[in-house]
Amino acid sequence: MNIYGQTVEDLEKYFENMGEKKFKAIQVYDWLYKKRVISFDDMSNVKKSVIEKLKDDFTLSLPKIIKREDGKDVHKYLFRLTDGNLVEAVLMVHDYGNSLCVSSQVGCNMGCAFCESGRLKKKRDLGTDEMVGQILAVQDDLNLRISHVVLMGIGEPFDNYDNVMKFVKIINCPKGIDIGARHITISTCGIVPKIKEFADEGLQVNLAISLHAPNDVLRTRLMKINKVYKLHEVIEAVKYYINKTNRRVTFEYIMLKDVNDNEKCALELASLIKGLNAYVNLIPYNETSHIEFKKTNNEKVMKFYDILKRNKINVTVRREFGSEVSAACGQLRANEEGQ
Ligand code: SAH
Repeated sequence: MNIYGQTVEDLEKYFENMGEKKFKAIQVYDWLYKKRVISFDDMSNVKKSVIEKLKDDFTLSLPKIIKREDGKDVHKYLFRLTDGNLVEAVLMVHDYGNSLCVSSQVGCNMGCAFCESGRLKKKRDLGTDEMVGQILAVQDDLNLRISHVVLMGIGEPFDNYDNVMKFVKIINCPKGIDIGARHITISTCGIVPKIKEFADEGLQVNLAISLHAPNDVLRTRLMKINKVYKLHEVIEAVKYYINKTNRRVTFEYIMLKDVNDNEKCALELASLIKGLNAYVNLIPYNETSHIEFKKTNNEKVMKFYDILKRNKINVTVRREFGSEVSAACGQLRANEEGQ
């Protein structure tokens, strides 16, 4: 087992079962995450017999960085996992901190028409340790602290729900990586039962919904998942989440030229989400050579933005990162695999 998939509570149980004091778990966490040693032998206040046991029971491996592309305020990583599979992460340097976009699966089965990641079908879920490992590998590589995490890399986080929840718990732990819940964002294409389950967790973690269209006809064209969970069900689940958590939700809306970027769509979107404690994040589309969609020009994005504003919808336009480093989610992996 990889130790980076263990919560403090898991390690406490582990030590108790061994007949050791449970505070050892916190000592080990301190070495792993605060002092950041990469070998059990360096845990100098842990006795030899315990170190030997830890070595027998756990590995300490991280996803291996096999490629890094650097752009302005952006570093894009390609990792090889222990079984040879590839995933990506993207580090974005903001004025408020360093944000890492993390992958949750190898490939994705959601099949969104505009998305590069989904062209390669899901091979498997990522383990909790492999998600934690992306953060550690990037921190170690760039020698900086990651302050924000977004689950917007390859995969659908709510299709790997249990591992993702455990991941959130581990990175949020004050004894470990200590990323504040409000600095963690989970993005989903709209898996309704999981949105409700997530609401019931009582976490302060942010929720983002990939909406991308204001009506079922268009959304079903863009996102296969809309055949299973219709827009009104997604909106109803979002209402449930807002009522339960009192937290604001983000609706992500990729601007696709001549597809979902006209005035009618803006008005329809405004009336769909009117009155909700939510805001819309308009996302400039990252074009990729394999997919025919084009990005909407800035002028038209601002027109769309103005319509939403006029209709009292909170709206922002996402800053563009990494178009020079093939940062369209899944692009690096697809290029590497020659597909
Ligand atoms: N499966 C989850 C999280 C991964 S995708 C989800 O659907 O939310 C993260 C976000 O990036 C989603 O909003 C997705 O629609 C968007 N995205 C995918 N391909 C993109 C591209 N080429 N350009 C811009 N955004 C893209």
